[in-house]
Amino acid sequence: MPSTALPRRPRWRSLALLAIALASLLWPLQQLAERYYRDALDRQSGQTLDLYVANLLGTLRRYEVLPPILSQLPALRQLLQQRDDGGLRDQANRLLGGLQQQTGADVIYLMAPDGQTLAASNWDQADSFVTRNFSYRPYFLEAMQGRAGRFFGLGTTSRKRGYFFAAPVREGLRIIGVLVVKVDLDHSETLWGSRPEQLLVTDSHGVVILTSHPDWRFHATRKLDKAERATIADTQPYLIQSPPPLRLDDQAWLRQARDLEDIGWTASILVPRSLLDRPVRSAVAIGGAALLVLILLLGLLMQRRRHYLERIALDARARQLLEQRVQERTQDLERLNSRLKQEVLEREQAQQELVRAQDEVVQAGKLSALGTMSASISHELNQPLAAIRSYADNAGVLLDHQRAEDARDNLRLISQLTERMASIIAHLRAFARRDRHAPESVALQPAIDDALALLAKRRQAQQVELIRDLPDATLWVQAGETRLRQVLGNLLANALDALAEMPPPRRLWLSAERSGDGIELQLRDNGPGFSAEALQRAREPFFTTKTSAQGLGLGLAICDTLMRALGGELLLANHPAGGALLTLRLRAAEHGVNIQPPEDFAP
Ligand code: ADP
Repeated sequence: MPSTALPRRPRWRSLALLAIALASLLWPLQQLAERYYRDALDRQSGQTLDLYVANLLGTLRRYEVLPPILSQLPALRQLLQQRDDGGLRDQANRLLGGLQQQTGADVIYLMAPDGQTLAASNWDQADSFVTRNFSYRPYFLEAMQGRAGRFFGLGTTSRKRGYFFAAPVREGLRIIGVLVVKVDLDHSETLWGSRPEQLLVTDSHGVVILTSHPDWRFHATRKLDKAERATIADTQPYLIQSPPPLRLDDQAWLRQARDLEDIGWTASILVPRSLLDRPVRSAVAIGGAALLVLILLLGLLMQRRRHYLERIALDARARQLLEQRVQERTQDLERLNSRLKQEVLEREQAQQELVRAQDEVVQAGKLSALGTMSASISHELNQPLAAIRSYADNAGVLLDHQRAEDARDNLRLISQLTERMASIIAHLRAFARRDRHAPESVALQPAIDDALALLAKRRQAQQVELIRDLPDATLWVQAGETRLRQVLGNLLANALDALAEMPPPRRLWLSAERSGDGIELQLRDNGPGFSAEALQRAREPFFTTKTSAQGLGLGLAICDTLMRALGGELLLANHPAGGALLTLRLRAAEHGVNIQPPEDFAP
C-alpha cells in the first residue's frame, strides 16, 4: 500500500515558529507587567514620599511660628536693650534653654543687630553659640531687613544640618535684634530608615542636603552657575565650598519628586529599577511558562487534529482501496462467470454431441444386434421351418401310402418343432422387452425355492446334490418377482446343463449374504466351468456352446439385461476348485410384504 502520511515539517521550523510566537506574545506581556508594577511601585513610593514630605513640612511649620512669638518675650528684649547686663543674659540663657527643652528645637538663640549672639539655649555647652557672630548667615540679614528669615545650613560648630527660622525683635519700628530657632534635620534623615528606596532632598541650588544615601550628601544634582557658587561661598550652607556633581545612572533608578514650594526644596524618592525588574521578570517568566504550556497544548491539539485528519485520510484511502479491490474482484468474478457460462454452454453442446454420438453408437449397436439377431433368428427359425416343411411333405407322402401312423408321428414332430419356434420367439420377446415396472421388495428365499421347485424333477433325475447356505431371516431385495424367478431359473438350468456333462458326484451350491447396502447370491456348480471364450461372450445374445436342441444362447443375455434393469449385476467366473461361479448382486430392499401381484410375464 502506498504511504499516505502527509509530509512532516522539519522540527526546527516548528521550534522557530514556537519561539517567534512566544516572543511576539512575551513583549506585550512584559510591557503590560512593567506598566502594572510601575504603577503600583509609583503609587507606593509616591505615598512614602508624600508621608516623608508631610512629616518634614510638619516639623518645619511647627517651628516656623516660634521666632515671631518668642521675639515678643520681655526678658529677651530687655537683654537686647542692656546687652552687657550679666544678670539679664543669664536669665535669657535659662529662658531659652527652658524653651528649647519644651519645644524640642535644636537651638534657640538671640542675636544682637551686629550679628553677635547674646543668649542661646546651649549657653552651658561646649559648642555654645553665645558670643559667636553669625551675621553672614542669610537668615540674619533677612530678619534684619524685617522679613522672616529662613535658611538651611550646616552648623559651623555642631556640624549638624539644620534649618534656621529667624524673626526680627522690634522696638517700635526699630529692629533691635534677631531671634533664631534652629531645627535639627539630621533626625528627619534617620527617620527614613534602611530601605531600598532612597531619599533625596535638594535645596534651591540643586544640592543634596538630606538623603538616605550618605555618599550623595552635598553633591550637586545640576550644574551650579557663578552667582550660586558665590552665594554658597558666602553663606556656607554646606561643609564644602563647591559641591561635586552627583552622577546617577538614570536607567538604574525610578524617580518621583515633590516640590516643597515654601522653602524652594525638592524631595525625591529614588526606587531602584531592580525593584520593578524583579516582579516583571517573575511575571514574564510565569506568563511565558503559561504561554509556553498554552502553545504546547495548542501544538498538541493541532498535532492530534493532524493525526485525526491523517487517520481519516488513511481510512478513506483504505476504503477506496477496498472498494477498488471489490470492484476488481467483481469484475474478475463477472469474467469468471461469463467464462463458466461459456464453458457450461460448451459442455452442454459437447454433451448434446455425446448424446448424439451415443445415440449413433446405440443405433449402430442396435443395428449390429439386429443384424446378428436376424441372422440367428433366420438360422434358428429356418431350421425348424425346413424340418416342418420336410415333415409335412413326408406326412403327405405317408398319407398317400396309407401310413397314417407314421404321418401322425410326423405331425407330432411338426407340433414339437412349432413349440420350439414359439419358445424361441417367447425368449426373444422377453429379451427385447423393456420392463418399466419399478423394483419392489421381493423376498429372496421364496423366489429361490420357486425356481428350485420348477427344476426339482430334473435335478433329482441327474442326482445333483444341493448345498444350501442361506440365512434363516428373509433377505429382501429390490426386484420384480417374476424377473427374479426367471433369472434364477435360467442360472439353475444352465448349472444342470453343465452338470449333465459330468460324472457324479454332481453338486450345486447356493449361498447368500449381505454385502454393504446390497445382497450377494452365489450359485456354484462342480461342472466343467466356463471356457475362456464363454467367459468373454456368454452375455451376448445367441452365444452358446450347446447344440441347437439344447440351447439358444439367450439365457445369460436375458439374465444380464434383467439384472441391469433391476439395478443389480451378474458376474461370471470360475471357481478355483473348478466349476462355474455365478454371482448375482442385488440391491437390498426395505422389509416388505409381497402383496403385489406377480408381474405379467407371458413367455
Ligand atoms: P445356452 O444355455 O442356451 O447355451 P446361455 O446363454 O444360457 O445359453 O449360456 C451360454 C453359454 O454359457 C453356454 O452355452 C455355456 O457354454 C456357458 N454356460 C452357461 N452356464 C454354464 C455353467 N453353469 N457351466 C459351464 N458353462 C456354462
